[in-house]
Amino acid sequence: MAVIVQKYGGTSVADLEKIRAIARRVSRTREDGNDMVVVLSAMAGETDRLVQLANSASGGEPDRREYDVLVSSGEQISVSLLAIMLNKMGHRAVSLLGYQVRILTDEAHSNAKILDVETGLISGELKRGGIVVVAGFQGVDGKGNITTLGRGGSDTTAVAIAACLKADFCEIFTDVDGVYTTDPNLYDKARKLKRISYDEMLSLAGAGAKVLQHRSVELAKTYGVPVYVRSSFSEDSGTLVTKEDEEMERGVISGVAYDRDQAKVTVVHVPDKPGIAGRLFTPLSDHNIVVDMIIQNASSEGYTDLTFTVSRKDIGEARRLLDPVAKDMGASRIEYDENISKVSIVGVGMKSQSGVASKMFETLANEGINILMISTSEIKISCVIGAKYTELAVMALHDAFGLEQEP
Ligand code: ASP
Ligand code: MG
Repeated sequence: MAVIVQKYGGTSVADLEKIRAIARRVSRTREDGNDMVVVLSAMAGETDRLVQLANSASGGEPDRREYDVLVSSGEQISVSLLAIMLNKMGHRAVSLLGYQVRILTDEAHSNAKILDVETGLISGELKRGGIVVVAGFQGVDGKGNITTLGRGGSDTTAVAIAACLKADFCEIFTDVDGVYTTDPNLYDKARKLKRISYDEMLSLAGAGAKVLQHRSVELAKTYGVPVYVRSSFSEDSGTLVTKEDEEMERGVISGVAYDRDQAKVTVVHVPDKPGIAGRLFTPLSDHNIVVDMIIQNASSEGYTDLTFTVSRKDIGEARRLLDPVAKDMGASRIEYDENISKVSIVGVGMKSQSGVASKMFETLANEGINILMISTSEIKISCVIGAKYTELAVMALHDAFGLEQEP
């Protein structure tokens, strides 16, 4: 029989009734003879509540070590509740927190990276026929401090455990029943994908599709862990995230993603001298502001314009950091535009087929949508457009590339 890691998200453990439904599902899979490790998130809304408490208690910037002690506590509740129910049903079940398993991380509080998962305790329990219920999202650093893995981090806990245990596969149960060609809430012609490659999944996540935590997919790719994205509320087999193969390349693109959480910054008419990009971007990276697309115009008469995008929530801080630098460099001004969004098409088929980019640009032009910025990678093309055209662009691209039909 198989070794299976199942992860259930916050909406799947939102109340006792839902946890009971999960207990039944876990129990069934166990009774089929599988070895089971279950990873849970906190009950829906709980982590948000704890984050707010930390912010209120500190007036904005909580001590980072104590923040992790607090926000990791939500998972302690859900894992113990599930273990209580499984025990009541006659199973041998044991809950384990991150430091008990020993999910060893670096020291980056609130955004820690997993370095290693000790499997001894888990394997021992599995051998004795037990079901192991592990708290997601949390770990412990080399000094024994509790750490957390960033929002959505339970996905990463599950994949890391699957990798270290050499599990047969990892199932991520959530409130959607798989990965779609685009957001089904935005477009009812979105189609559920049976399979998608790790790289496409990473590109979609980077382009705004929020199904799995980015790092969990990176880990799955590195260790070759097959990941199923499934719904906790149905029996549907979901979407398999796996290695790329020839069949996947037959389709031109696999999905259309959008990201409304974008803002555009343009540094206008800045003297084109060595070091300007470094002087602009270093303060941003020092403050953990992630810069996405960057365009520098061709220089004219010794001056140039530099345009880039940041997350919309960072725009206030970016302004505070950049205004003085731009003035000092002799730029004529900085423009900030929050009314933009990014629309991307993703697919491994792009590697072998031409004309994909031009088709995207024509499709947007036919709808009268102006493209403000373009960026491309091997399997992704992104365009920044006016925010109000987001829905229209997504639907037009989905139609133009025939995504409604199975390739
Ligand atoms: N409970 C954590 C969060 O809300 C981790 C997770 O759900 O994956 O971000
Ligand atoms: Mg999640």
